[in-house]
Amino acid sequence: MALDSTPATKPAPRPRKARGEGQWALGHREPLNPNERIKKDDNPLNVRARIENIYAHTGFAGIDPQDLRGRFRWWGLYTQRKAGIDGGRTAVLEPHELEDEYFMLRVRVDGGALNLAQLRTIAEISTEFGRGTADITDRQNIQLHWIRVEDMPEIWRRLEAVGLQTTEACGDCPRIVLGSPVAGVSTEEVIDPTSAIDEIIERFIGDPRYSNLPRKFKSSISWLADTPYEINDISFIGVRHPVHGPGFDLWVGGGLSTNPRLAERLGVWVPLDEIPDVWEGVVGIFRDYGYRRLRTRARLKFLLADWGVAKFREILEKEYLGRALVDGPSAELPAKPIDHIGVHKQLDGRNYVGAAPVVGRSSGAQLSGLADLVAAHGSDRVRLTPYQKLLVLDVADDQVESLVEGLRGIGLEARPSAWRRGTMACTGIEYCKLAIVETKARGEELVARLEERLRDFDTDISIHINGCPNACARTQVADIGLKGMLVLNAHGEQVEGFQVHLGGGLGMAQGQTAGFGRKLRGLKATAEELPGYVERLAHNYLAGRGDGE
Ligand code: SF4
Repeated sequence: MALDSTPATKPAPRPRKARGEGQWALGHREPLNPNERIKKDDNPLNVRARIENIYAHTGFAGIDPQDLRGRFRWWGLYTQRKAGIDGGRTAVLEPHELEDEYFMLRVRVDGGALNLAQLRTIAEISTEFGRGTADITDRQNIQLHWIRVEDMPEIWRRLEAVGLQTTEACGDCPRIVLGSPVAGVSTEEVIDPTSAIDEIIERFIGDPRYSNLPRKFKSSISWLADTPYEINDISFIGVRHPVHGPGFDLWVGGGLSTNPRLAERLGVWVPLDEIPDVWEGVVGIFRDYGYRRLRTRARLKFLLADWGVAKFREILEKEYLGRALVDGPSAELPAKPIDHIGVHKQLDGRNYVGAAPVVGRSSGAQLSGLADLVAAHGSDRVRLTPYQKLLVLDVADDQVESLVEGLRGIGLEARPSAWRRGTMACTGIEYCKLAIVETKARGEELVARLEERLRDFDTDISIHINGCPNACARTQVADIGLKGMLVLNAHGEQVEGFQVHLGGGLGMAQGQTAGFGRKLRGLKATAEELPGYVERLAHNYLAGRGDGE
């Protein structure tokens, strides 16, 4: 064979065989991981009957592990973390070694709307079955702890008697629908979309057609952009169309966790009565085309990133709605998040009062006290907010100050410091099996210290404390976002601490990354150093800010 003097060229790479992402619509129906297997073997909604008929009698020991660690979530139930297991062992222990025989129970409060009977029922369940625990989450749910499987039939009976449910409060399904806490009473709102939220809950929650999605599906529907709309899988925000009038601007594909991405506008205008069908179309796309092979790529945001907005809209119109959507303008967005804290006028001349617990921590006793106060001030309506706060609606002018005082008396502050108002914390190591660090108690200590040292700090500030990278309390969209991790202290010992993200925020929506805080690579603080660190940041900010800032 003649030797060729020309330099050898590299053989062309063989075309790689495209690897399926587990998309049902492309024929990948075979489960590709244990989570998909559990859902295929039995629809998770079916576990309710087993809880009521079997597990409530056998107790924790009798629960099938696939139900316990998989399907229970579809009914709002997660096992809680065993006390005394430190964050260093979170990743190295098997799931069953971390879990207690008690459950966290998430109660859906779609749109954050509660009446007095519902509030009292949650308070009673907390006191009787949950050792008095009740946290307001940043998704307008109430979360109870220390729940025993034996008590679930009675808990469901009581919740359902007042129109509450835990159906699909967790799991790979459509979770709670966020809504404006002031829907129907706001002076700024043009259309109250509560009817669309109610219709979605009625038609689709607990529907087996949509109970096996690739992963969770988060929704938000509000005329005002007063929910964290940029980080939901689907959001509808109020907008006026120059020809068609008021309707909703549709955003899809937002989400945080380890690969944060802001939602994008599809550029369409949706009238109120079409919201449920459009919502169903987007959920259908997610179910059929969503990636199921890897859990880490199973959120809608990954599909949107690969398809782009134009293709997403085309598939929605052609394959799911069978018609074209109307092109629409962009909603006007607020410069900063709207939290509704304080006293505000309603459309009907009465008032709503927004008040803050500390880092969302409430209790059965506090909720019961709140119900008494609300009744005594002539109201029947309370709203939970996606900032771990709550509102009392329909308060007459001459009742406002008495209510504000009464709320203060039970630990709810309608005129909170900037620190209390802006600090949120996720569940953390107290109950969460994924947690690496403590969050709630630390948040309470942080707020107390900052209130003591910087009482007159006069600027809105958000501090979001998270127990691990999952960002349940929205690490990346806070002025100071804290991601729990183990760090080295001055003596070289591993201790609880935080990676710091600075300068994030919602309500910006200027592009794909504009709202995310910068993760400062080298910047980690031990939990002990944290209060001093935040204090120094605040001092530096005050010293360096410009006029009017
Ligand atoms: Fe648990 Fe992590 Fe979510 Fe906090 S961020 S609730 S620690 S999973």
